[in-house]
Amino acid sequence: MRAKSIATLTVLAALAGLYWWLWLDHRMPADREFAIDVAELRRLAGEGDGAKPDAVRFEKSSALAFTESMIVTGGRWAVVDMPVYAFQLHYPDRTIVVDTAMDRSLAKPAFLLQSFDDDAYARVERALDTAALIVVTHEHFDHSGGLAQHPRLAQIWPAVRLTETQLAHVDRMAPATLPQALLDEADALRYERYHALAPGVVLIKSPGHTPGSQMVYVQLADGRELLLLGDVAWKQRNLDLVRERPRFVTALLIREDREAVHAQLRALHRLAREQSAIRQVPGHDAGVIDALAAEGLLQPGFVLPAT
Ligand SMILES: [Zn+2]
Repeated sequence: MRAKSIATLTVLAALAGLYWWLWLDHRMPADREFAIDVAELRRLAGEGDGAKPDAVRFEKSSALAFTESMIVTGGRWAVVDMPVYAFQLHYPDRTIVVDTAMDRSLAKPAFLLQSFDDDAYARVERALDTAALIVVTHEHFDHSGGLAQHPRLAQIWPAVRLTETQLAHVDRMAPATLPQALLDEADALRYERYHALAPGVVLIKSPGHTPGSQMVYVQLADGRELLLLGDVAWKQRNLDLVRERPRFVTALLIREDREAVHAQLRALHRLAREQSAIRQVPGHDAGVIDALAAEGLLQPGFVLPAT
């Protein structure tokens, strides 16, 4: 009898330890560093001929449901909204699309789809037809799926700028896939730390959430600044608390370099304090997007060419 209860207690203690390790442990070594050189970003944003973007527009085409405990370590077991966005950098004479959302076929089996806006997604799809450049913040299908599923992918392919690392990890796009024939002729974007993509737009290499993750710094023609974080942070709460997703998500679901992301969160937290004019946009936070839209820093709805 006594041996039995000791065994039971041992199992319970092991389970409690496992739960703590997977869901609650937010200790993190602080020896990894991620530096953000703002002066260099601003310098690169000024490179290239032509005007900077006059607006950053967004579409919210679907929303998933996660628990807060999946988003931030130690979070509540309450269901929260995970909206999916695409962004359009608008120039007087062209557009750049950053992140392409995902179509219904990819969204449907995805984790707890809450809503899908067919009209918004149709605008994303049409905007890709005429975009001068198309980039994604990372490989995951809620950012790259609209590209992969595009009905005229071969036609829009010349505008696509996937990085060398993203192309080396197209498996991370699953369940989205890109046709091998297009991958074979893909012109990989290679850069070390920063890349001036276009006037006012600088890519920031940020491996961690996925190998091919990058952030996008945008300086508008009027001087206002945005930093699209991709999924370095899903929510503002990750930045405020400097706290990562739980290990259950980073280790078992995403295979993320958790310490690299944590270093990025520390750097972004510092940046928010020191450079508050650079407005940070987490990957899936309606509160932030709506506040920036209310301030006029983001504009709802993509602009489409007249048909
Ligand atoms: Zn995402």
